[in-house]
Amino acid sequence: MKKIRLRYAPSPTGYLHIGNTRTALMNYLFAKHYNGDFILRIEDTDIERNVEGAIESQFDNMDWLGILPDESFRNPKKGFGKYMQSEKFEVYKDYANKLLKENKAYKCFCTSEELEKDREQQLAKGIIAPQYNRKCLSNKINDDNKPFNIRFKVPENKLYKINDVVRGNVEFNSKEIGDFVILKSNGIATYNFAVVIDDYDMKITHVVRGEEHISNTPRQCMIYEAFGWEEPKFCHLTLIVDETKKKLSKRSGNAMFFISQYKEQGYLPEAIFNYISLLGWSPNSEQEIFTKEELVKAFDENRFSKSPSTFDMIKMKWINSQWIKKMNEQDYIKFVTNFIDKNRFDIKGKDKAWINSVLLLFKKELEYGIQINDHLDIFFNKIIDEKTKTVLKEFKIEKNLVNFLVEELKNMENFSEENIKTLINTIGKKFEKKGRELFMPVRIFTTLSEHGPELAKTISLIGKEKVILNITSIK
Ligand code: GLU
Repeated sequence: MKKIRLRYAPSPTGYLHIGNTRTALMNYLFAKHYNGDFILRIEDTDIERNVEGAIESQFDNMDWLGILPDESFRNPKKGFGKYMQSEKFEVYKDYANKLLKENKAYKCFCTSEELEKDREQQLAKGIIAPQYNRKCLSNKINDDNKPFNIRFKVPENKLYKINDVVRGNVEFNSKEIGDFVILKSNGIATYNFAVVIDDYDMKITHVVRGEEHISNTPRQCMIYEAFGWEEPKFCHLTLIVDETKKKLSKRSGNAMFFISQYKEQGYLPEAIFNYISLLGWSPNSEQEIFTKEELVKAFDENRFSKSPSTFDMIKMKWINSQWIKKMNEQDYIKFVTNFIDKNRFDIKGKDKAWINSVLLLFKKELEYGIQINDHLDIFFNKIIDEKTKTVLKEFKIEKNLVNFLVEELKNMENFSEENIKTLINTIGKKFEKKGRELFMPVRIFTTLSEHGPELAKTISLIGKEKVILNITSIK
């Protein structure tokens, strides 16, 4: 059997985002499931649109996510051509000349003004999708001093069929497609031409990409046919949409778009990998948390979704929280420490073991790393706010209770979680309070906050001195 080879072929016109990560990831899973190769190719022929830093963003973020290419221009393999299109201009030119010779393509000397004028005329006549008028098809001019594009001669009235892995049979009639440019007058190949040559050179067996490319596919089929090459199998993934059902983009409200944003907020690469794999694909079980290895194993190209998938930020957060819970304590501490805002919380002067215990209190709660900063105030510089004061007043706590609490805490020799728990129980019995009536006032007095993790543990970590100061600071 032929070795399975798939590629992710970004144009360096932007940074790695949810949409192109999904494409990369599905190609990766597909290839790895069949012990095949996963290739990263840079499609940079649209020179004006290339963005500085985009290639690094693709490589670095993919590396971070664990979508590791077996081949790329950083680790090329001999015999598959170049891994960056800008290094192949001569190759495309040779192939275009071959088609010229075989009369499957022709030189077009029309200027952009002429083309635009003709387009407008066609539109004025009510033609919805104007096509090139083939003025140069029968043109016998052969003046190489004049700039020319090379156009592909689209076969007339021919049906092109694709058996798409996601969509099944899709048909196109060639009459819907005008003769298209394969090599521009500046010598640069167009996407539809270069992509076919690259996929052929790289022995790509399956092309997995976004549905916006489905309309390009018949053009590519024509090029395969013209060269007599076998087509790869196509697989056009459905859209990822936001909660308003619009295509996910950097303008989508709730969801962040770029992988670097998730990284900055403290999402784990395993969690992003996990969640994105479930966009437009589903496993044959109820399982939701998957490691990369489990996904490689579970992958099945027959389980791509036929309808758009909605990016759900709540689900993304939940999956991330599950991955945070799964971390071992040491890894978690290292991870979350990176997200502490060092300007707000002076952790340098504090005991390491103490900080670690504080951080561990939130391991089960955090959805993403940077959230740790919402929890640390009570251990550092908490001041009671007006709202909490009002809540406290509602409990109408008698002075006796507060005095008893302060005295008992003061006299407590071993300021341990256990002893504090016992004290809270004693207060409950002595002052006949239970549940919220007992815990909320004690929490507010000792921590100056209505919310927080396990109370006795929190009090013991805040420390005797500070807890007593907290209580006495409330007037
Ligand atoms: N360079 C194209 C893009 O970024 C990829 C097209 C393809 O996969 O064939 O959309």
